[in-house]
Amino acid sequence: MNNILELKNINKTYKGKSENLHILKDLNLEVEEGDFISILGKSGSGKSTLLGIIGLLDNFDSGEIYINNNKIDKFESNNVDRLKNKDLGFVFQFHYLLPEFTALENVMIPCLIQNFSDKKNIEIKAKELLKKVGLEERYNHKPNQLSGGEKQRVAIARALINDPKIILADEPTGNLDEETSEDIHKLLQKINRENKQTIIVVTHSKELANITNKQYLVKQGKLILKK
Ligand code: ADP
Ligand code: MG
Repeated sequence: MNNILELKNINKTYKGKSENLHILKDLNLEVEEGDFISILGKSGSGKSTLLGIIGLLDNFDSGEIYINNNKIDKFESNNVDRLKNKDLGFVFQFHYLLPEFTALENVMIPCLIQNFSDKKNIEIKAKELLKKVGLEERYNHKPNQLSGGEKQRVAIARALINDPKIILADEPTGNLDEETSEDIHKLLQKINRENKQTIIVVTHSKELANITNKQYLVKQGKLILKK
C-alpha cells in the first residue's frame, strides 16, 4: 500500500503555567495517496492541532510523521521547508488572502516566492487554476471585491499552485452559508477526483463528511475511524 502520509504515536501537549494539556495521545493515522478524508470532533478536541502538526506548522512532543516517505521526527528537520512548499497545500477557515493583491497575484505568490524567473508560466498556471475554481472573470479583483465563497475559491486555487500531494483544509466552509458551502464541497470533491490529490479536511459539516471516502473522529486524543 502506498501511504502518502503516516502518523505514528504522535503526542502533543500544550504546556500551561499550572497544568499541561495533553491534546493528542499516541495518535496514529495512515493516509493513502488519493484519499479524501474528513476529520470531525467537538470544538477543542484537537482537530486544528492535528492539522497543524500534519502540515508541519506546529511542533509535536514525540512520534513520527512520514510525508511521501520522508521521515519527520523533528520540527527543525532540513526537509521541512521544502516539503511544506512542495507537498502540502493549505486552506483555512479564514482565507488569509493579501488584501493589496489581486486574485491572480494571490494565487501566484506561493510559486513566485520559489521561482521568480518563471513569472509568465506561473501566471498561465494561476489563470488555469482560477478557471478551475470558477473565477475566470475575477482575475483582477482584490479580496475586498470578492464574496466570501469567491475568496475561499481563490484560497483553494492558491493552495493548488505548487501541485501539492496533500491538501489540508481546516473548516474551509465554516464561515460560509449553506449553498456557498455546498459549492466549495463539490469543488474539493472535483479536485480530489480529477487531480487525484489527497485531501484531509476538518469540518463540522455532515454533508461534506458524507462525500469523503473516510471519516475520522478526534476523541480523547485519538482518531477513531467512523466510515
Ligand atoms: P479544535 O480545532 O478541535 O477545536 P484545537 O486543536 O484548536 O481544537 O485545540 C485543542 C485544545 O488545545 C483546546 O482546548 C485549546 O484550548 C488548546 N490549545 C490550542 N492551541 C493552544 C496553544 N497554542 N496553547 C495552549 N493551548 C492550546
Ligand atoms: Mg479548530
